Amino acid sequence: MIQITLPLNFLGSVYREIRQALVDMGEMFTLLGQPAEVTDAPNAPPLAIKGGEVHLDNVEFGYDETRPILRGVSAHVPPGNTLAIVGPSGSGKSTIGRLLFRFYDVNAGALVIDGQDIREITQESLHKSIGVVPQDTVLFNDTIRYNIAYGNPDAPFEEVEEAARAARIHDFILSLPDGYDTTVGERGLKLSGGEKQRVGIARTLLKDPPILLLDEATSALDSQTEADIQDSLRRLGDGRTVITIAHRLSTIAHADEIIVLEKGQVIERGTHEALLSADGHYAAMWHRQSAEEAV
Ligand code: ADP
Ligand code: MG
Repeated sequence: MIQITLPLNFLGSVYREIRQALVDMGEMFTLLGQPAEVTDAPNAPPLAIKGGEVHLDNVEFGYDETRPILRGVSAHVPPGNTLAIVGPSGSGKSTIGRLLFRFYDVNAGALVIDGQDIREITQESLHKSIGVVPQDTVLFNDTIRYNIAYGNPDAPFEEVEEAARAARIHDFILSLPDGYDTTVGERGLKLSGGEKQRVGIARTLLKDPPILLLDEATSALDSQTEADIQDSLRRLGDGRTVITIAHRLSTIAHADEIIVLEKGQVIERGTHEALLSADGHYAAMWHRQSAEEAV
């Protein structure tokens, strides 16, 4: 278990960091209580998941009143589909992820999952239904087994192993001095960025959420590690609704729909092929990245 013996102001800043980093910490919220800004509606029922359909309905949002960040963003993600969000840094991509988790409420419009406005269901059920593979997976000072099982603490060991295999980290774990009982994290064995990311993927596989949010999940990795991870991520997305905030366009060419965000507005949308033919912003980004990767 995580020991919560820290002063509250420290927890406040940790919470803000977590929120910023979009780390999936549903259990942490339960421990710390809900943030003051966003509370459950009285007698809110839990989210009733059908297929995991996600609707962004004309979403408007700003962190403060003076500066709008999202200006009427709409998207429809049918159950099991993949939506990719691309666009320059600062265009509001991660903000969409934070809103989907209801770390903040929209100023206008709505976020709707399987027909339910996320303001009308419990945050606990919302957080349980969305899995996140963040840029930087947080490891606890505990065994690697604990760190994977954190996605579903009641899971039997066979399932932990199965998740580790699917995330392609099982063999690495067996090579550690104490295998699954090896302590990792700050006070234990330090893992590389790619290894941490695989732990994050295994954790999410074990949690088995119907909706998956990937936020530039592979940007810190070298190309070979990224190619390996992409394979695991694609498998993780099978049978789930996936919203992926993309860094390298090569990783989202298969998405059912791609939206290009600029200054909080959708300026283009379509499949990879359609956007290439349209020869607009996406095509320009694609040709630029292809040229960079060929170097
Ligand atoms: P992206 O993921 O596309 O790079 P973000 O959604 O993270 O962009 O940020 C969009 C804009 O919102 C940026 O201008 C950023 O500075 C601002 N922003 C992000 N987080 C906060 C915050 N917690 N408070 C105020 N402004 C923020
Ligand atoms: Mg971002």
